[in-house]
Amino acid sequence: MEKLYLYNTLNKRKEEFRPLVDNKVGLYTCGPTVYNYAHIGNLRTYIFEDILKRVLLYNGYKVKHIMNITDVGHLTGDMNMGEDKLELGAKREGKTAWEIAEFYTKAFNEDVSKLNILKPDKQPKATDYIQEQIDLIKKLEKKGYTYKTSDGIYFDTAKFKNYNKLSHLKLDELKEGARVERNLEKKNPTDFALWKFSEPLTPPSLRATSPYKEEDKISRRQMEWESPWGVGFPGWHIECSAMSLKLLGKQLDIHCGGIDHINIHHTNEIAQSEAATGRKFFNYWLHGAFLNIAGGKKMAKSDENFLTLENALVKKGINPLAYRYGALSTHYRKPMEYSEEAIRSAQKGLDKLWKKIMELKEQKAEGKDRKVNAEFKIQFLKVINDDLNTPKALALVQKVLKSDLSPEEKFATVLDFDQVLGLGLDIIKIRVEKSVIFKWDIEGTQPEAARLLKLREKARAEKNWPESDRLREEIEKLGYSVEDTKEGMRIKKI
Ligand SMILES: [Zn+2]
Repeated sequence: MEKLYLYNTLNKRKEEFRPLVDNKVGLYTCGPTVYNYAHIGNLRTYIFEDILKRVLLYNGYKVKHIMNITDVGHLTGDMNMGEDKLELGAKREGKTAWEIAEFYTKAFNEDVSKLNILKPDKQPKATDYIQEQIDLIKKLEKKGYTYKTSDGIYFDTAKFKNYNKLSHLKLDELKEGARVERNLEKKNPTDFALWKFSEPLTPPSLRATSPYKEEDKISRRQMEWESPWGVGFPGWHIECSAMSLKLLGKQLDIHCGGIDHINIHHTNEIAQSEAATGRKFFNYWLHGAFLNIAGGKKMAKSDENFLTLENALVKKGINPLAYRYGALSTHYRKPMEYSEEAIRSAQKGLDKLWKKIMELKEQKAEGKDRKVNAEFKIQFLKVINDDLNTPKALALVQKVLKSDLSPEEKFATVLDFDQVLGLGLDIIKIRVEKSVIFKWDIEGTQPEAARLLKLREKARAEKNWPESDRLREEIEKLGYSVEDTKEGMRIKKI
């Protein structure tokens, strides 16, 4: 068996992956803060994590994958200041914070499913693990790592040795980064909130000049809980520690996120978890690089570069899997450049690949006695096990298709690779067998065409030929040709 090498941010080098327990992997990936749609930069990270998970599975590991949903505590300022993003979303849309969380969790899950990302084994919500977070803070308090300020309970980073072991930054540099948000009560700029107190409706500054009012007791927040320290809510970082410790137990193998998590979120997760348990918190830390919009700018939800799967792709008639294909063409640790031109060229690349697979199918290559080419499989394992080298893996797919292998062997080999790549080649197979080829070509790109096709399928099943012809004309007006085959309708873009 080929060894698997992964780049571990903790030790700043590629290392052979060895799980804590033979054959089993505990994987924790930081999930979305559900106050808005995910932007395609976020989605790039989830694609990289999906490749990692698929590579682990391909190597024969049993993977337990946890991805949290942040539905409380993530403030607009990463340190501890600003507004809670969920409460902000609630104000923006005139809904409750709970409704916002539910709506955007659903939207997130729809997006990742369009990208053919495997579902995690568990998707815990931070609000369902409040007690675990309180318990963890109590442990830290008992061990003397916490202190209280007027707005919450804080972790004293000066008490934790090697606070910078993940970021590899000098403490001064970390402090400098943290100083952007000033909080004069903090002992060290890098200290972070474990528990924040709810603010009363009337700010303290006004209370001094007016008599006590009943409304002083009413909170500004929708989400808050009782705790030993007062009514409030947990800080963002503590949720990932509490949930990974609870749900993975001692199986703390791999923890992932975007590179923007390294200096604050993951650094703080390590500090508080190791301080509380006295044990190492995760052996491998993997981070995906940013997506840059043409012009070299990092994309964030706060600026006009905010592109979602819907507005950047679906509305423009681009299949979301073309984005996945584009993401695979760049190694996950390299910045990916995004432009409309680049995504259209990715769509062309993927179309070509799908066409080749369809041609192989037409040559009846999916027969039962097909087998995967052993030599190519070894080469494939070598490249994906070399820190998930997906650009090389895609090149290898082309090499297989151009080789002189029999159609059966080509088909079987490429489909085997697709267990890792996840470009939907297996779905084409299933859908053809079910005689619904059209769904594959259209779904997610042209909702109106998909709707008409469904109606036409129904009309044909009812032998309503005039209606079927009428619908064919409608579909053709949208820029597709319709061909009726024994397997079902075959749709092509004109
Ligand atoms: Zn996290």
